[in-house]
Amino acid sequence: MSKEVFKGKNIKIELENGVVISKDKLIIAGPCAIESYDQLFNTAKFVKSLGANVLRGGAYKPRTSPFSFQGLKEEGLEILKSVKKEVEIPVITELMDVRDLDRVYDVADIIQIGSRNMHNFSLLIEVGKQDKPVFLKRGMSATIKEWINAAEYIAMGGNTNIIMCERGIRTYNDYTRNTLDLAAVPIIKKETGLPVVVDPSHGTGIRELIRPMSLAAFAAGADGIMVEVHPDPENALSDGAQSLNFDEFEELIKSLKNGAM
Ligand code: PEP
Ligand code: MN
Repeated sequence: MSKEVFKGKNIKIELENGVVISKDKLIIAGPCAIESYDQLFNTAKFVKSLGANVLRGGAYKPRTSPFSFQGLKEEGLEILKSVKKEVEIPVITELMDVRDLDRVYDVADIIQIGSRNMHNFSLLIEVGKQDKPVFLKRGMSATIKEWINAAEYIAMGGNTNIIMCERGIRTYNDYTRNTLDLAAVPIIKKETGLPVVVDPSHGTGIRELIRPMSLAAFAAGADGIMVEVHPDPENALSDGAQSLNFDEFEELIKSLKNGAM
């Protein structure tokens, strides 16, 4: 396993709001998908008031079924841009297609590569040539080595500002949506020195598990968490079952502030 690409690079990513990854803990929160201006604005205001330092929101959604909501796409990016300015919070959003790179680059403070695209080497190479931090989600069936290889594809282009995101893998356990591999946190840190963020929302698919898995993520040494939050999860257009409502997010933050972070 090679860590030469990252060695001595001292990954230190400073966001517009002064947050320094991996010195400060990242709390990335927001809806799975951007559905409307009000939905994103209200969520952004709320999560920021509780200490979230990055807003998430998907405009391009890589849905398992082509019949599911595919995201608001360019309209979603416009909403994200306005909310980012209005609420003054850095934003992360997913890039699915290299043809959308300029559009996503224009809005995003951090560019997300989703689990399904971790093996999309041409996409990895292109985000490696631009200068915004890249949030690399682990492929749902990727080994640790394959995940590191994907990060190396990005780094090859010159961009070593990579945040690794453990988001669960497929195993024979079908009780949870994925099996959250928390041992990956110290392993990735040891092998690459890159910051690691845990996504317990996609990692479990079950909202009740988000708090215990977030606590466990920080105990394992994670540099942050990414959590889906929605004003009305029961009516969310995607991933409602794993999204926290505002009260639940507040409970999560209270638990984390109790010394876990
Ligand atoms: C997401 O975070 O919006 C997402 C689609 O997650 P993943 O790529 O991990 O499935
Ligand atoms: Mn989601």
